[in-house]
Amino acid sequence: MNFDVAIIGGGPAGSAAAITLAKSGQSVAIFDKSEFPRDKCCGDGLTTLALRLSEHLGLSPLAINQWKNINKATLHWEGSRSATCSLPDGTGLYAAVVPRVDYDQSLIDLAQSNGVSIFQGHGLKSINVQSKRPQIEIDGLGLVEAKSVIAADGMWSPTRRLLGLSVNNYRGEWHAFRQYFKNVGSEAKTLHVWFEPDLLPGYVWSFPLDEGRANVGFGVLRDGQIPISETGKIWKELLQRPKIREVLGRNFEPDGRYTAWPIPARITSMPLSHGPVLFVGDAAAAADTLTGEGIGQALLTGILAGEAIVKEESIEKIARKYESSVASELNADHRMSLILQKILSHKRSARYALNIATSTKWTRRNFVRWMFEDYPRALLFTPKRWKKGILKRQGTYFDGLNSKYP
Ligand SMILES: Cc1cc2nc3c(=O)[nH]c(=O)nc-3n(C[C@H](O)[C@H](O)[C@H](O)COP(=O)(O)OP(=O)(O)OC[C@H]3O[C@@H](n4cnc5c(N)ncnc54)[C@H](O)[C@@H]3O)c2cc1C
Repeated sequence: MNFDVAIIGGGPAGSAAAITLAKSGQSVAIFDKSEFPRDKCCGDGLTTLALRLSEHLGLSPLAINQWKNINKATLHWEGSRSATCSLPDGTGLYAAVVPRVDYDQSLIDLAQSNGVSIFQGHGLKSINVQSKRPQIEIDGLGLVEAKSVIAADGMWSPTRRLLGLSVNNYRGEWHAFRQYFKNVGSEAKTLHVWFEPDLLPGYVWSFPLDEGRANVGFGVLRDGQIPISETGKIWKELLQRPKIREVLGRNFEPDGRYTAWPIPARITSMPLSHGPVLFVGDAAAAADTLTGEGIGQALLTGILAGEAIVKEESIEKIARKYESSVASELNADHRMSLILQKILSHKRSARYALNIATSTKWTRRNFVRWMFEDYPRALLFTPKRWKKGILKRQGTYFDGLNSKYP
């Protein structure tokens, strides 16, 4: 088989790259070891960045089974303090919760409808980048040739491993747990985040879904104050904390088992290319190191990789173009997130920061918009990205689609 571009992995990063390329007339194939619909351990939270890019790619909420609009977030800190931060009203959608089983399937469907060939249940076995055109060996399909390869194969990126580029003992910056619950109380119909003092800069979340369900989880820094071996025990204990039970209600019960997975967030130090191979999404460790959100970054890096391949001819120029656009879109924000992470790591400075961020209606609204990536983390320090009205930007899906998903 022969394609212009072969993509390993059909999560948000792979699908975004594929749609971008196919729209520009390239022949593209996605190979994923899983059969879709497949679950991915995730909080299922779509930030404004993820929504803007989903909309840009042409994804319609109407194509998705379970889609929950979010219009406010309640933050809890210091055990007893809490503040509800409302997102702008009547100017579109700024956040949503969409189970990955549905979101990723819809992106794959969109890629297919744009002419992408999808091969599910066929994993990467080997890769050879020595010949003029790279060759990949796909389980059950044999050899595939392409001009470029995009590695969108997640945190453990087999492509990276097969190319000998894995970082020794690297297990991501964050470690996060997620479990679905049913019969949650009425408080859990909205989005909650708890900055528990013993988990900082980690946090606990409850993200609402329809029919009395919620996606609940927590994440901690891998080299933070919590040993990863303790996190299983902590998960059970967290669900007993009165503040959390108050929101989840009396009758909540597990709707499936809990899962845990690492989150890679070191975009500035991870190699983004190797000859004709570009790494995107978790395979490029692109998640936000402050919050662990990675869907928006997966879509963004996928789109940038696709655009670099469309714009440039030679392997070297493609790699350079991709690396420079990732650097200008994400590097300053990554550095900013690292600084903020330090602030949130200490009880006193976290309390101070949250008190200020929630002190007025204006700060609450802008803080939650910033938290949900409506504008870049380091916008203030990157004048190149200042555009008129950027702080008053309309949300997404403003055409009324979102009113069908209250
Ligand atoms: C508990 C938890 C909660 C999170 N919550 C959020 C959140 O609320 N919001 C947010 O924005 N981000 C969140 N994230 C981060 C987010 O899940 C990831 O950043 C995002 O999934 C990255 O997308 P991706 O396309 O790069 O990789 P993935 O979604 O992991 O997709 C990789 C794909 O590669 C395929 N693959 C793997 N090996 C092979 C192979 N050998 N051959 C072919 N295919 C292969 C896999 O089957 C998979 O489909 C969370 C992460 C965790 C762990």
